[in-house]
Amino acid sequence: MTRQLLVTSALPYANGAIHLGHLVEYIQTDMWVRFQNLIGNNATYVCADDTHGTPIMLRAEKEGITPEALIARVHQEHLRDFTGFNIAFDLYHSTHSDENRECAETIYLALRDAGLIEVREIEQYYDEEKGMFLPDRFIKGTCPKCGAEDQYGDNCEVCGAAYTPSELKNPRSAVSGSVPVLKPSQHYFFKLSDPRCQQFLRDFTRSAPDGIPVLQHEAANKMQEWLGEPGENKLSDWDISRDAPYFGFAIPDAPGKYFYVWLDAPIGYMGAFKALAKKEGRDFDAVWKAGSKTELVHFIGKDILYFHALFWPAMLHQAGFRVPTRICAHGFLTVDGAKMSKSRGTFITAESYLQRKLNPEWLRYYFASKLNGTMEDIDLNLDDFIAKVNSDLVGKYVNIASRCAGFIKKQFEGVLGQTDRAVFDRIITDEALTEITAAMEARDSARAMRQIMHLADEANLYVNDRQPWLLAKDPEQRAQLHIVASTALNLFRSLSVLLKPVLPALVTQVEGFFNAAPLNWADARHPLPAGHGINDYAHLMNRIERPMVDALIAANAESLQATEVPKAEKANDKKSEKKAANVEAAKDQTNDHISINDFTKVDLRIAKIVNAEHVEGADKLIRLQLDIGETENDQPTYRQVFAGIKSAYDPAQLVGRLTVMVANLAPRKMKFGLSEGMVLAASDADGATPGLYILSPDSGAQPGMRVK
Ligand SMILES: [Zn+2]
Repeated sequence: MTRQLLVTSALPYANGAIHLGHLVEYIQTDMWVRFQNLIGNNATYVCADDTHGTPIMLRAEKEGITPEALIARVHQEHLRDFTGFNIAFDLYHSTHSDENRECAETIYLALRDAGLIEVREIEQYYDEEKGMFLPDRFIKGTCPKCGAEDQYGDNCEVCGAAYTPSELKNPRSAVSGSVPVLKPSQHYFFKLSDPRCQQFLRDFTRSAPDGIPVLQHEAANKMQEWLGEPGENKLSDWDISRDAPYFGFAIPDAPGKYFYVWLDAPIGYMGAFKALAKKEGRDFDAVWKAGSKTELVHFIGKDILYFHALFWPAMLHQAGFRVPTRICAHGFLTVDGAKMSKSRGTFITAESYLQRKLNPEWLRYYFASKLNGTMEDIDLNLDDFIAKVNSDLVGKYVNIASRCAGFIKKQFEGVLGQTDRAVFDRIITDEALTEITAAMEARDSARAMRQIMHLADEANLYVNDRQPWLLAKDPEQRAQLHIVASTALNLFRSLSVLLKPVLPALVTQVEGFFNAAPLNWADARHPLPAGHGINDYAHLMNRIERPMVDALIAANAESLQATEVPKAEKANDKKSEKKAANVEAAKDQTNDHISINDFTKVDLRIAKIVNAEHVEGADKLIRLQLDIGETENDQPTYRQVFAGIKSAYDPAQLVGRLTVMVANLAPRKMKFGLSEGMVLAASDADGATPGLYILSPDSGAQPGMRVK
């Protein structure tokens, strides 16, 4: 029976670039969807950008554009990157859409009618200068436990303590720098503690639609922990509102209140399908109303299990909608055994990978060979990546075709002969196909890839054994040569079927070579008949060479900025680096005119010195941590700059000051660490007036503002 499936990946947040960590999920989902469709099911794949919330609002403000303009740009970038990795959504939508607003309002109103929304007054930090309530991550201060400075409002990165923003000592707003005040506000809560939600979630956690558990074993254990023992009520109600100003959807009948971004993010799955249904004339209710026969399968990272396994199904169920059939959580990506790092260059963006012309299907295959359907982290070991792609894809799989295609072309006018069925049936067995199908269904593509490569080994052994290159020298062996080459090519074709979910672009090329209809899963068992004409063989895949990977890492280490600086400019930057580190103005070029375009290449930003300290072993340098409004995963990140200003400044007097930095200078590796830019300072070129004077903006300037 044909299964109907609606499959989703988690929605990427619309304020950053897609990186290889994201791709673990999208590649995994895309492979699974392609596999389902290849075996004859009907799988639809939707996703969207997650576009609401304070970080987006503030980033747009910083860039001097509207949030709508920001999310439109990021949507384009995200879709470009996904398409580049052959991720084929039926629709890639946005949570900032009419469809999503309708769905969010419908669910909210249904929950309200069911008595599951409660309004309560809470106290929250308020930035009076900026006129806004501050999310926890936008409050900084001194850790109440260990006294570490400059910690977030919800937890300390030094001692690991968790607390509430009101416990933080010396709190200040990360937005304006002012001291926030506690202010009461009415907030809207979804009553997750209601017995109806509790009971539903206990049943949901243990459910197994069609005999397959809705949650992986590890995820079900986590849920059990959150839910507690029967009779226990460990769940807290969920605060789903935020106060204006907020970029999001207004809550019906609640002036000045907006849905918290995490409320309408998962509803984005519905909104995206609703838009697709409109476009293609499909039935929204048949998929989303309670009792739906369509399977709903979510792929997510393990860090957002709480939202997807608690809030989301509870909301859906209580509002009269269907609940997820399966939630497939995966682990994080590490590179060479460590957390992805911007300074080490292992925080690799999808865009940089594509720009440097690395084959996206190398990465798809590598991830496929590592993913096993559990929540374990997976490691991109760069040596292993090179070795595995070269050995498996080029050395084993493609090798079969490249060794045998020429014989058919040159000696048999491109027409296939008989396939040796005894050999074909011995290698492509029903058992092997059943096992590969089961592994793919269970999202254990690692097991499937091992099986497929085992079959490729068998096919290569067959070719080695029959030695077609020797047969080709003996006219009496011509018939035998035709059989051997045709059998090998048909084995290659069957392997192509099995690899099609992983290598869609490559297999499209293979389909062209075989001059036949697009391959389906069942074709694996059926060789092309004698007399079938095939096309010329064109080279299918290159080996990965180490320098390509090294260049990719170097590019990501250099481009700490989201904006890629063209090569020629980087070279110029290098020349001036020494001076840059010494915070000296370029003396020799003061008399030459430059164009406005030259000037605008320099990205000057207002920077706040959040920390300054002496550098042990350096008599001229001060290590600065500079805030230029950059964030990573919604958290502020700082630039490290080594400035040669020790002769003129005491570090203590610098902390808290605003200055101007060159933000797009190529980072420079120094003995003491990476220097990620330079601060501007004035000095007398002739040395007649000694001293160094760092620049300061006029009052009111904010970190991250562009200087032009
Ligand atoms: Zn602490």
